[in-house]
Amino acid sequence: MNVMKMNVTNSALSLIGAFFKSVTISYSKMAAYDFCPVKYKLIYVNGWKVPPNPYISLGLTVHAALDNYHKRGASSLDELMSIYDEIWVNLGFKDPVAALEFHESGKKMLSDFFAWDSSRVARGIKTVYSEKSFYFTLGRHKAVGIIDRVDKYPDGSHEVIDYKTHRDAWSREKTDSDLQLSLYSAGLKKTVGIRPSKHSYYFLYRNDYVTSDRGRAEEKKAMSEARRVADAIALGDFAPRSQSCPKCDFKEKCPESSVRERGKR
Ligand code: SF4
Repeated sequence: MNVMKMNVTNSALSLIGAFFKSVTISYSKMAAYDFCPVKYKLIYVNGWKVPPNPYISLGLTVHAALDNYHKRGASSLDELMSIYDEIWVNLGFKDPVAALEFHESGKKMLSDFFAWDSSRVARGIKTVYSEKSFYFTLGRHKAVGIIDRVDKYPDGSHEVIDYKTHRDAWSREKTDSDLQLSLYSAGLKKTVGIRPSKHSYYFLYRNDYVTSDRGRAEEKKAMSEARRVADAIALGDFAPRSQSCPKCDFKEKCPESSVRERGKR
């Protein structure tokens, strides 16, 4: 067989291989791929880690504190605050003053959360799952995820809630169209047979609880998008999205970066 024929055969074989390849997809992977396919590859194929920063540390601590609060069956603000101190992630801060500032902002979030949560408990709303993992098949791929919280109302209906610790305000359009809650909604139905009737975000930094409009059409859209991204990953489509480079955590090290300083290449 000549070299050209061998190359054509190898390409055909890799295409066939990609067609049968199964990818485990999650909302975080979709977000990384959407930001830049190279970023997805660096993290999920090459094993690069996003460098620690104050926002990641605060987000991890607050999420873990809320999960522990629910799972330990705690019911007071003092307990919540002591869990928070116990598991504080002290990484990525430029100095102790910055760490203290972020620590205080987390305490404010939890204090507001406690007031919000207590008013729900008083209305008979129960948290039935915290950090609930789900799994379902998407054709030859798999979708996985972890839902921050699922609540049950006295009338038997359910609500999926995702906690956000970032500072940005989301527009109504983004709140209603973001794929995360739709994917979680499908995951809850397929994993435990519960179809939630409410889908909400709780923006802890802003103490803003927002319920979004979404139904089966949005679930279908999220699943089809998850499948599209999984197919692209299976095919090895990792073209750089250079418009994301200025905001990228890897812009100084990534071989495809469009903004890396020349001296460092
Ligand atoms: S530096 Fe640019 S090309 Fe590299 S991963 Fe980040 S966004 Fe993608």
